[in-house]
Amino acid sequence: MVRTSDNGGRGISCFLIPSDSEGLSADPAERKMGLMGSVTATMRFDGVRVARERMLGSEGQGLKIALAGLDAGRLGIAAVATGLAQGALDLALSYAKERIVFGQPVADHQGVAFMLADMEAAVSSARATYLEAARRKDAGLSYARQAAVAKLIATDNAMRVTTDAVQILGGAGYTKDFPAERYMREAKVMQIFEGTNQIQRLIISRDLSRR
Ligand SMILES: Cc1cc2nc3c(=O)[nH]c(=O)nc-3n(C[C@H](O)[C@H](O)[C@H](O)COP(=O)(O)OP(=O)(O)OC[C@H]3O[C@@H](n4cnc5c(N)ncnc54)[C@H](O)[C@@H]3O)c2cc1C
Repeated sequence: MVRTSDNGGRGISCFLIPSDSEGLSADPAERKMGLMGSVTATMRFDGVRVARERMLGSEGQGLKIALAGLDAGRLGIAAVATGLAQGALDLALSYAKERIVFGQPVADHQGVAFMLADMEAAVSSARATYLEAARRKDAGLSYARQAAVAKLIATDNAMRVTTDAVQILGGAGYTKDFPAERYMREAKVMQIFEGTNQIQRLIISRDLSRR
């Protein structure tokens, strides 16, 4: 994204920049609490020269292109968060059925059984919400608000479900012998990137007040 004129939001253009461009560099990788499969680093653009032909779309369309990319990205995050929550629920359920405490499987104690029920409800509602947004996208309808709702619901639910999975595994959930603790760390970033969940609420409320 580069400012190509003083025309406010319409003065920004998008460029595809080759990774070997002179002046383009990356800061050292961030030391994160999760998402270890992906390197995260700030990119620096110091006097990088880019050919006009590398412009994505036309001049002044950059903000529009970036915002459209965010809508699609939020749908992707919602889908990933739903899968993560499903994985945490599957793990907690299989553990709770096998672990015997006070003479019966943990899953049969109502306090845990109701947690599992709430986890199932959270995963199902996340799935339904992101699929609704995805169907609108596939049909060529506007879906910015639905994508924001899906990202908000799916990632907040994933945070709750993964935290409850750690709880259901008890002490074992807090160890690295099981992936529950990793699921919980992975869920956290999803409430933050692609626009924090506070920003999703901002997008949704602004869209509602425009109707
Ligand atoms: C692992 C990881 C990968 C990332 N990858 C990318 C990437 O590929 N590309 C990229 O561009 N960025 C990336 N980011 C950055 C990410 O998108 C930002 O961290 C995120 O959007 C939040 O911005 P910030 O960190 O500047 O928080 P800030 O804007 O400083 O916000 C701090 C807090 O204030 C709240 N807040 C801010 N404004 C408001 C408001 N108006 N109303 C209410 N609350 C508000 C926020 O929700 C947050 O809780 C990545 C971040 C992480 C952690």
